[in-house]
Amino acid sequence: MSKLAIDGGTPARSKPLPPNYPGAVVLGQEEADFASKVIMSQSPFRYYSPDPQYAVEQLENRMSADLGVPYTLGVTSATAALVVSLKALGIGYGDKVIVPANTFLATPGAVVCCNAVPVFCDVDESLNLDPKALEQVYDDEVKAIIAVPILGNPVDMDPIMAFARSKDIPVIEDVAQSCGATYKGQPAGSIGTIGAFSFQMNKIITAGEGGAVVTRDVKLFERAVRYHDQGLMRHHTRYGIDSPDDQFAFVGQNYRMSDITGAVMVEQWKKLPSIVAAMRQCHDLIRDAVAEKFPEIQFRHCPDPDAGYIGSNLGIIMPTKEATAQFNKAIGAENIGMHILYAGLPAYRTPAIYNQRTADKDNFPFNYPFRKPVVYSDDLCPRAIDLIPRTTYLPISPVLTEQDVEEIIGGFIKVYAALRDRQLIGQ
Ligand SMILES: *Cc1c(COP(=O)(O)O)cnc(C)c1O
Repeated sequence: MSKLAIDGGTPARSKPLPPNYPGAVVLGQEEADFASKVIMSQSPFRYYSPDPQYAVEQLENRMSADLGVPYTLGVTSATAALVVSLKALGIGYGDKVIVPANTFLATPGAVVCCNAVPVFCDVDESLNLDPKALEQVYDDEVKAIIAVPILGNPVDMDPIMAFARSKDIPVIEDVAQSCGATYKGQPAGSIGTIGAFSFQMNKIITAGEGGAVVTRDVKLFERAVRYHDQGLMRHHTRYGIDSPDDQFAFVGQNYRMSDITGAVMVEQWKKLPSIVAAMRQCHDLIRDAVAEKFPEIQFRHCPDPDAGYIGSNLGIIMPTKEATAQFNKAIGAENIGMHILYAGLPAYRTPAIYNQRTADKDNFPFNYPFRKPVVYSDDLCPRAIDLIPRTTYLPISPVLTEQDVEEIIGGFIKVYAALRDRQLIGQ
């Protein structure tokens, strides 16, 4: 057994893994050509310009076709997509929205932006929202559920949809981290009432920034279009809406996607299947090699029997958070960067949320006099507190070579075996 790099041995890899930007690392001539066409036509705005290229519209049409959802709207980010979705659903002051304890700040942040208050639901070994925990956090002031497939792992949507139907509330899918994932054959984002996508740098496909809203519901879509564009309903005939009824118009904002972003995203969207296939292949090779060597290792649970994960990350649940920290340090020294999410904390433990502070007077809307007050205590979601700091992720780039995969497997086995022999991780 060779010496660990943290003990002065030779690292399993001579250089770090490729950066964890699956879409950005395959940005190339195709995106450059289409973006250049938009620029050279001097027409970067989607709704009017001297020589429109309709790039955002192309993106929307492609997404709709591939997701099997009639309505797609390009927006500026997933945060914008969540706000637009919540507004389309009419969620606002006096409402509560259930969000998973394990998510990025943007999920509860969008709820607060809409003047509603997030209620945190515990997670299970998928590290996603635990459908069995919903009943416990639900009350009749809850007006929606946001489900979030974390780092490429689908959410167990069937029981969540069934629960939502029983309470007659909508489900938003925040698929920012899992574009390309499926659940029982259905694309993530197309299962709930409305889906929110991100095209930010860290996500699966990217134009640096960007997002999209998808839905099957024409009424919700009309509201989404209006909210994202100053209350207007332009190009309505495209959606089969003959004459939008301006009587129902309301005040909106500007979350419109630029046609330059649209051009980059059309080409990125075309690359999504090959990105996912490449990541999944490496993911499965690494997982299988590790599982064969160490049958006791617990992988993050995938709730989809068809294995609809995209393989962007291999998630491993370690026995303790101390072991996880030791392991990450040792494997990092081998030039194989693994990490826990969100500093090991549930989203409600982030100071701004925990202290219920907003930019508004009197911490509006947290000061709403709910019949059942929303209080964030340390131990609100005990499984999230337990699982988040002991789930470590190996990011898997679509551009890993065979040699990279071999080195990762070798380094993983070396570090895990050594720490197990030192009884730092379980037998
Ligand atoms: C990144 C992320 C967002 C926000 O995406 P932006 O496009 O950066 O606004 C929302 N939800 C989750 C779960 C995310 O990871």
